[in-house]
Amino acid sequence: MATIAYGAHGADKPVERMSIERRAPGAHDVQIDIAYCGVCHSDLHQIRAEWSGTIYPCVPGHEIVGRVSAVGADVTRFQVGDIVGVGCMVDSCQHCASCGEGLEQYCENGFTGTYNSPTPDAPGHTLGGYSQQIVVDDKFVLKVRHAEEQLAAVAPLLCAGITTYSPLRHWNVGPGKKVGIVGIGGLGHMGVKLAHAMGAHVVAFTTSESKREDAKALGADEVVVSRNDEEMAAHADSFDFILDTVAASHNLDAFTALLKRDGTLTLVGVPEHAHPSPDVSALIFRRRAIAGSLIGGIAETQEMLDFCAEHGIVADIEMISAQEIDAAYERMLRSDVKYRFVIDNATMAA
Ligand code: NAP
Ligand code: ZN
Repeated sequence: MATIAYGAHGADKPVERMSIERRAPGAHDVQIDIAYCGVCHSDLHQIRAEWSGTIYPCVPGHEIVGRVSAVGADVTRFQVGDIVGVGCMVDSCQHCASCGEGLEQYCENGFTGTYNSPTPDAPGHTLGGYSQQIVVDDKFVLKVRHAEEQLAAVAPLLCAGITTYSPLRHWNVGPGKKVGIVGIGGLGHMGVKLAHAMGAHVVAFTTSESKREDAKALGADEVVVSRNDEEMAAHADSFDFILDTVAASHNLDAFTALLKRDGTLTLVGVPEHAHPSPDVSALIFRRRAIAGSLIGGIAETQEMLDFCAEHGIVADIEMISAQEIDAAYERMLRSDVKYRFVIDNATMAA
C-alpha cells in the first residue's frame, strides 16, 4: 500500500515528500505506524552519497518508534496497539555463526539495513523511517517499555543508544574504569549517559566550548575541550577505554596517547574521508589497541532499551517537522544539535 515518505532522488537533491509502497504484512510481519524517527549522521552520509553505494530514491531513518497497526497470522509477540521500535536492521540470514550468536549486525551473509539494502519489495531496496508506515519481520521489532510520553526521546536509542551501549558492554565498562567519550553529538551524548549509568568515571571530549557545561549535566565527571593541548596532556596514559564517535576525519594519536597500557580506543564514527594513519609506536609501546564496533544485535538492543527504561534514560532531543530535515542536516554538520534531531512523523501528512 502507498505511504508518505521523505527522501531524495540524488546526492545533490533536496529531501522532499514522496509516495512509496509498503508490502502487505506477511505471516511473520509487523506493520507499524511510525510516530517519530531520529536523524542519525549516517542518514546524512548515505543520502548525500558520502559513502559508496547509495541507491535512489533514498529514504533514510533507522531510529524508528511507533504503534503496531497490523500483525501477520504467525506473530505472537506483538499485538495491534503495542509501542515498538525498529533500529538499523530489518533482516539477516539467520543461519550463519554470527546470527546464531545473536550478532545479526555481523551477519556473514550481510544483514538487511533498514534503508539502502536489497529487498524483494518495491523499488528493490529498503526505505527507512522517514515515512508514515513500515512493515518489518517480527524478529527485528523491539518492545518499548518507556512511558508513552517519552516516545520521541526513545527513538534515538534505536541507533545512537545501541551503537554506544554495545561497545561499552563489550569492553566491560563499569565501576573503577576511566572511560572517554569523544564527540558529544547524537551517539556521544548517549555514550556519556550510558557509561555514567554503568558506573564508570566518564570524561567527555568535545571540540565545542558551548558543550562544556552541558556534558556534565549529561553525566560526565570531567569535560575536556580537545582543541586544548594542555587539557589533553593532563589525561595522558590514564584511560581504560575511549569510544570515538566523531563523524569526520581526525588525528587518532591525540586519543591513543591518553590510553593506559592495554587500553582500547574503539571507533564507531564512519567519516567520509579516512583518518590519518595512527602512530604505530604509540600502540606498540603500551600494547594499546584501536578497534571498531557496529551497532548491536537484536537481543542486545532489547537489553539496552530495557536498561534505559529501568534507569530512566532517554535522548536529549530537538523535535523537527519533516519539512525541516535538510536544515537539520546543515546544523548537524556544524555540530549544532543538542543532541539529536527527531522527526515528528505526523507532520508528513501536511
Ligand atoms: P553527530 O550527531 O553529528 O555527532 C558527531 C560529533 O562529532 C559532533 O557533534 C562533534 O562533537 C564531533 N565532531 C564533528 N566534526 C568533528 C571534527 N571535524 N573534529 C572533531 N570532532 C568533530 O553524529 P552521530 O549521529 O553521533 O554519528 C557519529 C558517527 O557515527 C557518524 O559518522 C555516523 O555515521 C557513525 N555511526 C556509526 C554507527 C556504527 O554502528 N558504528 C552507528 C551510527 C552512526 P563535539 O561538538 O562534541 O566536538
Ligand atoms: Zn544511525
